[in-house]
This record gives sequence, structure tokens and C-alpha cells, in this order.
Amino acid sequence: MTSFQHGIVIVGAGQAAAQAAQSLRTGGCTAPILMLGEEAAPPYQRPPLSKAYLSGAMGLDRVVLKPLETWAAEDVNVRTGVRVAGIDRSARTLATTDGETIAWDKLILATGSRVRRLAIPGSTLDGVFYLRTVADVDDLRARFAPGARLAIVGCGYIGLEVAAVAVKAGLSVAAIEAAPRVLARVAGEEISAFYEAEHRAQGVDVRTGAGVSGITGDGAVTGVALSDGTTIPADIVLIGVGIVPNQELAADAGIVCADGIVVDAASRTSDPDVYAIGDCARRHLELYDRTMRLESVHNAIEQAKLAAADILGHAPPALETPWFWSDQYDLKLQTAGLSQAHARTVLRGDPAARRFAVFYLDADDRVLAVDAVNSGPEFLAGKQIVGRKGRLAPDVLADTSLSMKEIAARAA
Ligand code: FAD
Repeated sequence: MTSFQHGIVIVGAGQAAAQAAQSLRTGGCTAPILMLGEEAAPPYQRPPLSKAYLSGAMGLDRVVLKPLETWAAEDVNVRTGVRVAGIDRSARTLATTDGETIAWDKLILATGSRVRRLAIPGSTLDGVFYLRTVADVDDLRARFAPGARLAIVGCGYIGLEVAAVAVKAGLSVAAIEAAPRVLARVAGEEISAFYEAEHRAQGVDVRTGAGVSGITGDGAVTGVALSDGTTIPADIVLIGVGIVPNQELAADAGIVCADGIVVDAASRTSDPDVYAIGDCARRHLELYDRTMRLESVHNAIEQAKLAAADILGHAPPALETPWFWSDQYDLKLQTAGLSQAHARTVLRGDPAARRFAVFYLDADDRVLAVDAVNSGPEFLAGKQIVGRKGRLAPDVLADTSLSMKEIAARAA
């Protein structure tokens, strides 16, 4: 690594930023590292926000990745409550909203994403919430009281995780989804049907194929109006309809963006001294030969490691099959790979036993992805099979008399 005059500046202080700083230091980087994050908390993990942090089972001390003192001891300067307003690529500086100018030799953009806001009548009423940050959860949880009526707009992972926590906390919960099934963007029909039935059995009023025309209320929320004319009464509304990448800093600086900051295999943007990692970046995935944004902890960590290795002049780390998880009730869903382009699915195990997996195959029986419910071996072996583009006959995958180890050994 060349010696730096000003050092490495990381914009954003989330999962990806934290991993980048850590990988740089453990990789032997001696240059100054400065991390600038606009939130009040030091870098923290977001997955518990809609799970154990929302339920109260996990406190902020366990959500935070490391306290500020530990970062200082590792010689990483983490500054919270600082928002970066602009980048000057020719001067190799950035400006904060407080008017400070900071020089950098290498810049890492780890700005994450923000919630997609719904521009519908009533969306600014008191009692309407989104969920992205610790502060969002603190505000939402303050309204959680047994008997309170919560309407969730959007049945993706976050919406359904919140539904599970809320119904257990004694709230009356309705979950509204415009698509014909829950989790439609991320999972196959078997998984959607299973989770829909599970939420209904737990007492959630699940409405699919239901468009939302507005939120009713006068000052405070009283309900959610559906396109078919019905209104679902509510005291609280949580909107979870996806995220948009925070790419404006890069775009305004003339860096190539296309629904995400476009990066190469080393996480470099169109400016080779500027990297982009995590939710804000669009990368090429060799495994599926397509470019995309991945919104996951796995991606944030992997891209951070790739950027750090490139800055240090080290060989890149081996790539992992994309993975994800979701906790709802006593169900652990673990996903490996991307199922979107599948031609057929194979069910292994019994959904009624709350322990099963759905494998997603292309037309040539290549295993593209697996969704495993309470099924660790299916997830682990499936991840490995997906990663080596393995092919398997559907009847072999479905045969529960064979262990996943035996099945993985048969993958062509
Ligand atoms: P972030 O963690 O969002 O960090 C970006 C930070 O940059 C933010 O703090 C932001 O405020 C800051 N920032 C942005 N712009 C500026 C600026 N101009 N100046 C200063 N700071 C700035 N993934 C999983 O794999 N499994 C899960 O179960 C899972 N559950 C999730 C549950 C919830 C509720 C949420 C919100 C996400 C979940 N995810 C999950 C996704 C995962 O948390 C994200 O993919 C991951 O946090 C992305 O990390 P990141 O560092 O790219 O972005």
C-alpha cells in the first residue's frame, strides 16, 4: 500500500463502514482512518431492529458493533452526528454540512440506503412510521401497547418481522400487501403461502392483493384506506415498502450511478480512488452473471473486505454465495442464493412440521437458491451447492432418506 498523506475517509458508519475499517486495520493499514456517520449511534447492526431490539430482548449495547472506545483503541476515528454534504473529486476533499472540509487519499462511500416513502394522502399523520434506524424503532416501540391496532403496509421481510413481534406483544395487527402474496419479491410461492398461513394462525389479519389509497385520520392516524373502499382501523401504521440507495453524493460528484453506485469487482467506482460498498452499491455478481444491489449483511461485509483488500494491495477474499435470514415467531428462515430466475421449485421436508426447505432450480436443474425454514443442514449444504453452480435431479433433492451431505456429494 502506498503511504497516504491524508488517509482513508469512510462516509457512513453502518455495517459496511465498520467492516471496511476493521479489515483495513487487521490487514495492516497504518494510514489514518476516519469514519463519518450522520446517526448518533456508533456503527450498529440493523437486523435486530425488526426482531430482538423491537421486542426488547436485545438492548442497544448488543446492537452496537463496538463502543466508540474500542474504535479509538483500534486507531479508527469514528465521528457520529456528522453528515457529509458533498465531494470534490479534483481537490480530493469532502465537505460536511457543518462547513468542515476534510481531505482524503482514498474515499469509501458506505452510505447505505433509506426507506422508500409512500406519497399517499395521510402519510404525514402522527402515528405513521418507517423502520430503518434505532431512532425509528425507539419511536415505534413507544406506541406498542397491548390492544393497540397496528396496520403494516408492505409484507416483505421487515413488515412480517414487525408483525410477528407486535402480535406477540398483544397488539392487534393487520398486514397489507399490494402483490397477490407476501414476500413476493424475494421468495417462491411455497414460502409465501407458508408464512401467510403462519401469520394468520398467529392472529395477524393478512390482506394480499390489497392496494392502499391513503391513510385516514385528523392529526393522528385512524386507519388505512384500501383501494377497494374498505378501511382498516389503526392507531399506528408501519410502512415497509422497500429502500432506495443513498447514491446522491456520488452522482453529484460525477461518479457513475444506475440505481446504486456502480462498482467493479474490487468495489471501485468509476473513480479508482473512490469505493462504494454495501446497500448503496451496484455490483456484478459472477454467480448469476448480472448486476444488482444486494440489501444484506453478507453483501455489506463482503464488499467492505473487497475494498479493503484492494486498498491494501492484497488478493481479494473468496466470494461467498449471497445469504440472508429472517426470524419470525419460532421460525428461522435462511436463504442462500437468488431465486428470481428459477424455472421450478423442489420441496424438501414437511411445512406442517415447521421444518422444510424450498430449492430453486433453473431449466437445467442448476440449483440457484434455497430457502430453508428451521433447516440448518439444507441451508449450509444448499449454499455450498449454489456457490459451485451444482446441478441436482429434483427427486434426489427431495429425498429425505438422503442426508444433505450425501446430496451435496452428488451435485454435478
Ligand atoms: P447502513 O447500515 O444503512 O449504514 C449506512 C449509514 O450511512 C447510515 O447510518 C446512514 O445514516 C449513513 N449515511 C448516509 N449518508 C450519509 C452522509 N451523507 N453522511 C454521513 N452519513 C451518512 N440484512 C440481513 O442480511 N439479514 C437481516 O435479517 C436483515 N434485517 C434487516 C432489518 C432491518 C430493520 C433493516 C433496516 C435492514 C435489515 N437487513 C438485514 C439489511 C442490512 O441491515 C443492510 O443491508 C446493511 O445494514 C447495509 O449496511 P450498509 O453499511 O451498506 O448501510
